[in-house]
Amino acid sequence: MLRINELKLPLNHPDHALRDAIVGRLGIAGDDLIDFTIYKRSYDARKKSAIVLIYALDVTVRDEAAVLVRLGRDPHVVPAPDTGYKFVTTALPAPDAPRPVVVGMGPCGLFVALILAQMGFKPLVLERGKIVRERTVDTFGFWRKRKLNTESNVQFGEGGAGTFSDGKLYSQVKDPKHYGRKVLNEFVKSGAPEEILYVSKPHIGTFRLVKMVEQMRAEILALGGEIRFQTRVEDVLIEGEGNARQVVGVKLHTGETLPTRHLVMAVGHSARDTFQMLYDRGVYVEAKPFSIGFRVEHPQSLIDVCRFGPNAGNEILGAADYKIVHHASNGRSVYSFCMCPGGTVVAASSEEGRVVTNGMSQYSRAERNANSAIVVGITPADYPGHPLAGIAFQRELESRAFVLGGSTYDAPGQLMGDFVRGVPSKEFGSVVPSFKPAVHLTDLAPSLPDYAIVAMREAFVAFDKQIKGYYKEDAVLTGVETRTSSPIRIKRHDDSLQSLNTRGLYPAGEGAGYAGGIMSAAIDGIRVAEAVALAMVG
Ligand code: FAD
Repeated sequence: MLRINELKLPLNHPDHALRDAIVGRLGIAGDDLIDFTIYKRSYDARKKSAIVLIYALDVTVRDEAAVLVRLGRDPHVVPAPDTGYKFVTTALPAPDAPRPVVVGMGPCGLFVALILAQMGFKPLVLERGKIVRERTVDTFGFWRKRKLNTESNVQFGEGGAGTFSDGKLYSQVKDPKHYGRKVLNEFVKSGAPEEILYVSKPHIGTFRLVKMVEQMRAEILALGGEIRFQTRVEDVLIEGEGNARQVVGVKLHTGETLPTRHLVMAVGHSARDTFQMLYDRGVYVEAKPFSIGFRVEHPQSLIDVCRFGPNAGNEILGAADYKIVHHASNGRSVYSFCMCPGGTVVAASSEEGRVVTNGMSQYSRAERNANSAIVVGITPADYPGHPLAGIAFQRELESRAFVLGGSTYDAPGQLMGDFVRGVPSKEFGSVVPSFKPAVHLTDLAPSLPDYAIVAMREAFVAFDKQIKGYYKEDAVLTGVETRTSSPIRIKRHDDSLQSLNTRGLYPAGEGAGYAGGIMSAAIDGIRVAEAVALAMVG
């Protein structure tokens, strides 16, 4: 099979144009083209009135060798790489060996468990939250009735933090082994739309994610895995000292202990109690950078027109996203993060008396507002002194937001123009905020450190040069965005993927500081599953 890269066609080309373009590009007769599939489709929207689709195609022709000889110097026509996934081992563990234990069933834990199960190991998954349907009831209950369940919410439960999300499935991580392809194939097998395999920025949306998570759970169980929900790991049992420290089991919130010598901790960035426990048990943990800021809502139509001009609303392009950065004069970088086209801003708290924002959407991305976090990068120099100081810093900001919002789980908010001028907002303009329970208008300046406020005031004005109309007087800012990534890294060895100082402990995914987003967490899950499997078969 051949791979043709960078084949460009106008946005609204007819179906047959693709076949014609392949034949022309390869210089072959029409009959010599046997079949083709789209491997990737992206677009170039720099010229809004003439948007171009860019294809990578896998093509089967009658005489592949002859084409390759003839086009040997063409870097865009090459043999298609093998992106199929191959298990590193399929050996079954000894029947009496303790099973691998996976803590957390977010995208990382799900993929650790799925890959281990597919290889013939029978993992035991421990998840503190509820099955996804029950979790949905709790989460929507919080949004509608302000009743927070600290063990079942946007952060905790089957499917992990990204279940109520935009379901963006792209990532910047290097992926030489094509693990991302395996992730997408598994998602499609579990009910995701096939287009995620080829569009350049695939997304799934919340409702479909819920169904997919259930499907993946069914496969893990069918392969002999076991999953226990509402089961919180409260302690890790470690034997030995110094270099000989070895995990031998876990203790659950019920007091029950379970033996294991292969323990994956895929607990996400909000498991603050679990981070504390690991630190107390002497597991090596260090502080890492993350970001803080607000969610910003604009009319989606404004973003669409700015990005796509006369092609706004085109079905192939869908609702437009954006990515913007500003380097502020106080040295801080301000940037967009987790942009959700046609989505809603959601309450993402997992602790009493704290307010945190995030964003989600449905597959259709049809809501009227575009939302994105606009955040300021911070480093351990901003919260010095202790490996867990970033957690205390997040808590402090989330508590401030709770109070500023009126201490009812309403989020504090402000209109963009008022924020930049430094005056409290009194009433909404044309942008109706989507956050539930509600947005309480106020002055957001006390919610974050001064350096962040100053940098963001500058950035909102500067962003108008990147997206015309972005500086919009009545765009709504909602605070605070603090769970952008983990404030810690649970460091591990590069080769064995085990904790720096505790054998048998595999820190994984976003909480451990090795992923940021659904796709990278899932890819990390595959890597960790392979490391566990290889260690188990010796
Ligand atoms: P998590 O998904 O956080 O999963 C960790 C799991 O561990 C949780 O289910 C938790 O209950 C469980 N757990 C924690 N402690 C324990 C314990 N002690 N015992 C047992 N279980 C425990 N990313 C994207 O790429 N695209 C998006 O569109 C996107 N949108 C998002 C929208 C929202 C509202 C949120 C909150 C996040 C979004 N993200 C998105 C980020 C993405 O969800 C995370 O990066 C990803 O889920 C991290 O995966 P993970 O498996 O490492 O951790």
